[in-house]
Amino acid sequence: MTKHKTPLSQITIAAPPGSSTSGRYPSSLPYPTAMSVYTETSSRTLLTLPGEIQNKIVGKLEPLDLLLLRATCRHFRNIIPPLNIHELLVAESSKTGMERDLYACRLCLRLRHSSHFADTMMKKGKRKLAGGGISRFCVECGLKPPPGQNGYSPGTHITRNGVVSVICIYCTCLARPSQDRDGKNTQYCTGCWARTPEGQEMRRLKEARLQRELEEREQRLQRELEEREQRRRERRAERGSDAEDTDEERPAQFYPGNDGCDDWRDLFL
Ligand SMILES: [Zn+2]
Ligand SMILES: [Zn+2]
Repeated sequence: MTKHKTPLSQITIAAPPGSSTSGRYPSSLPYPTAMSVYTETSSRTLLTLPGEIQNKIVGKLEPLDLLLLRATCRHFRNIIPPLNIHELLVAESSKTGMERDLYACRLCLRLRHSSHFADTMMKKGKRKLAGGGISRFCVECGLKPPPGQNGYSPGTHITRNGVVSVICIYCTCLARPSQDRDGKNTQYCTGCWARTPEGQEMRRLKEARLQRELEEREQRLQRELEEREQRRRERRAERGSDAEDTDEERPAQFYPGNDGCDDWRDLFL
């Protein structure tokens, strides 16, 4: 038995009992068809809802959902106030915040990926749910804090993913730190450190040491050459002056390619 479906445009909706000539649909207008009701419903979005209903919906959202809704359009950006650090800390500990490795910054009041924070800002008391996140800030904000806020000071070392940088105490750029004589990181970038008296002294000592090593190596190679030549003369004397020298020893060469000294030699050649 075939069941014929009636098109939506031909379905009429009966007026509610006792309201055929009053209420929402005046008697002079036709009753709405199912298709028109369907069309009206489908065109409704969150934006078309009355303001009171929007407010009620917004009031029931979690902080992370508020952030997402606020980012959808200017309207919701206007009606949803910026989240404070406490709400952001709740958002960073949500399932999505955990999965996406998001952390809250108290200065720019944003949720940002962990790569934007120093390692120390996500450890110990400042890790998620530890309560200390209220004082956390991202590297960007730490370098240029808003007026009246404290960020990083020059000379501070910042470690991100195990890589150490320094805010150079002289030029204030964020760069790799230089090392002092003991191998400790200084508060200078390598360029500025080279201009300090200690940096210049280290460079002078290094050049002197390399020069000394170079001279010692040349003397050793010269000695080896002389020893070989001496052995060759002794063999000739044993075989007679006309004997062919069958010494297959290769003469010593300065700077063979595999001597492992490319580093210091490059500085002088
Ligand atoms: Zn920030
Ligand atoms: Zn510098």
